[in-house]
Formats: sequence, C-alpha cells, structure tokens
Amino acid sequence: MAHHWAEAGQRGGAASRGKPKSAEHRRKIGEAHRGRTLSDDHRRKISEARKGQSLSAEHRAKVGDAFRGKTLTDEHRAKISEANKGKVRSPEQRAVLSTAMRRDDPGYDGAHARVVHEKGLPSLCKQCGTVEGQFEWALSHDATDVRTGTSKRRLGQRYSPHVKDYVRLCVPCHRKYDGKPRRKKVTS
Ligand SMILES: [Zn+2]
Repeated sequence: MAHHWAEAGQRGGAASRGKPKSAEHRRKIGEAHRGRTLSDDHRRKISEARKGQSLSAEHRAKVGDAFRGKTLTDEHRAKISEANKGKVRSPEQRAVLSTAMRRDDPGYDGAHARVVHEKGLPSLCKQCGTVEGQFEWALSHDATDVRTGTSKRRLGQRYSPHVKDYVRLCVPCHRKYDGKPRRKKVTS
C-alpha cells in the first residue's frame, strides 16, 4: 500500500510537505521502501502521526480493492478480531444503526444489524456443524436481491436487505464459501 507520504514528508522538510508528487517520484519512494522493515519506534511515530486522520473515499476504495480477494491468515484474522473486541458502539452509532435497520434498504451495516437483531449472533456453522470457534453471518449464494454498499466504509461490499439471505458459518467455512466462486485466488 502506498503509505509512504508521512515519511517522505518528514524527509523532504516543511517546504515539500503537502506538495503533490509526480507519479515517478512516488514510484521511486515506493521502491526505496519496499522490503524494508520499520523499527517499532518508527512504526509508532507513523501511527501517532496518522491518528485521527481519515482516508478519502478514493483512498478507502483502493485499500478495499487491494484487500478484496485476499485470504487473510488465521493469525491476521485473530489480530483484527482482538483489535475490534474493545470497540463499543457510541450511542450515536447505535442510533444510526437502529434507524437504518428499519428502512426498506437498510444498507450494508443496517442489514447486518437487522440479522443480528432478529436471529442473534451465530454460534454454530451450518456448513460443517462445528460449535467451536468464531462465526459470522454470511451472505448466501442463493440471495437474489444483492446490493452493494454505498457508504464510505462499505463501498462496493455486497449485502442483501433480507434476513433470510444470511447463513451461519464458521470463519473457515465462510472463507471457503466466499473464496471459490466470487473472489480471485491469491497466487503469490
Ligand atoms: Zn464451518
């Protein structure tokens, strides 16, 4: 991912900060950085500098494209899961979701909220029958009324507004379920 601006900005000093860089310049920066491992201290500084910044819709879409079709390792998934665990929805977010899920077209998040509201969190896998591990509501391949998210966060993500279109799957089955017909395979 092209996240090299923070550092390039530091190195270039105040004069070059904020100036758009040519494609050639960006390519060179990218090449220079590729394969390099940042120190923890360096990572922390970049992280601090980025806190509170939000990505543009275009940037988000690019990050989304880069991730789509990739299969995350179990370790990576576990990390994301852990990181999300402490997050509690603010009263404002809850109110937005609560309103959204009552609409005819609830949107991606509203649709998921509606499924959880009506059917609860999944705790078994319809595919393999396991009751161990993590579970998700998966969009059924039989869903006919499939729409795509329009919000910044869910841009292009597929969902159905109908509760009946979701199936309980464990994470590995969900990955397999989505992996074959709809996502490009990871080759490297
Ligand atoms: Zn399963």
